[in-house]
Amino acid sequence: MQKGKGTRAVHAGVEHCPATGAIMTPIYQTSTYVQDGVGNHKGYEYSRTLNPTRHALEKALAELEGAKYGLAFGSGLAAMDNLMKILKPGDEVISTNDLYGGSYRLFTTVFQNYGIVFHFVDLSDMDAIKSVLNENTKIVWIETPTNPMMQITDIKVVAETVSGNDVIVCVDNTFATPMLQQPLSEGADLVMHSATKYLGGHSDVVMGCLMLNDDELDSKLRTLQNSCGGVAGPMDSFLVLRGIKTLHLRMQRHCENGRSVVDFLNSHPMVEKVYWPGLPSHPGHDVASRQMSGFGGMISFTIKGDNLATANKFVESVSLFTLAESLGGVESLIGHPATMTHAAIPKDVREKVGVTDGLIRLSLGVEDAEDLIADLSKAFDLI
Ligand SMILES: *Cc1c(COP(=O)(O)O)cnc(C)c1O
Repeated sequence: MQKGKGTRAVHAGVEHCPATGAIMTPIYQTSTYVQDGVGNHKGYEYSRTLNPTRHALEKALAELEGAKYGLAFGSGLAAMDNLMKILKPGDEVISTNDLYGGSYRLFTTVFQNYGIVFHFVDLSDMDAIKSVLNENTKIVWIETPTNPMMQITDIKVVAETVSGNDVIVCVDNTFATPMLQQPLSEGADLVMHSATKYLGGHSDVVMGCLMLNDDELDSKLRTLQNSCGGVAGPMDSFLVLRGIKTLHLRMQRHCENGRSVVDFLNSHPMVEKVYWPGLPSHPGHDVASRQMSGFGGMISFTIKGDNLATANKFVESVSLFTLAESLGGVESLIGHPATMTHAAIPKDVREKVGVTDGLIRLSLGVEDAEDLIADLSKAFDLI
């Protein structure tokens, strides 16, 4: 029987050091490995190919997602880059029209140049998917909840829609983490994370990973990982191994803080709109309630008037929240997607999905909710 998620988070990938008994996986800060004779080694030859600290992490990541295989890379985008390299010119990808800015940039400014065709559609509209699905479609790239509009895609329904078409259904599970959402059990073939965010959880590392079950795809991805070399280093692997040990506890607190702050924002007279899948008024609420076991600590909202000047004033008026890119750490961050994370997306494209000049995004940390609310309340008074 598979153990609970918390137990797996604490124990996944941990093998006590046979040489010293060290309870924690050592940081094998080494590039190469002594061979006793020609072809006679202990499974490690060169650290681009495999390093014991990264190996322990890759096993832990797989276990967390209930997957057979895990691969760790130098960043979330390096993980996506590795995956996209299985494609050939003429191959097509279907993705969401509300996509993380960096993913959008990777697709449109890099892979489009290599002859890969991208379709950005509303993934909650199966007719929209069917209208672009064809024999060249190789990947469906889902992000749910999306960044920053918190749109929800029904993974199971999308997987059923494209089934029988030899399409790899991939889910960017960065926002939900395996604690709140397990895409592989919803019918997805592959899960990607920016481990920079919740998996690392302490804003001290940049990393990405892929988790999957298919032997043949794993072998292709591993060959590419070794051939292209965008691997995660041993120190970073150690940090993420440490981070995931508390993932279940942190996610629980992120969710609780999400609920408290949403309740506060919803009742504040200066707030115009709040985007959080836990709200019954959120269009993806029903799907999220089934697909996720919690709604997370990422919230976007607009202040009445929805303009750049007010948003600017607000983000400058908070003091406990820090104005910064990124998310998923123990400390609360505030961001302005239009000029920060989503600056790479043209204004007309981003405004169509709701990333307006006045949109503010919060990544709630694990502080006390009362203090977070007091800080936001003070900022409303100042603007
Ligand atoms: C940050 C992020 C990425 C990119 O990951 P990096 O580690 O920054 O390369 C991809 N998807 C989502 C949803 C993200 O938040």
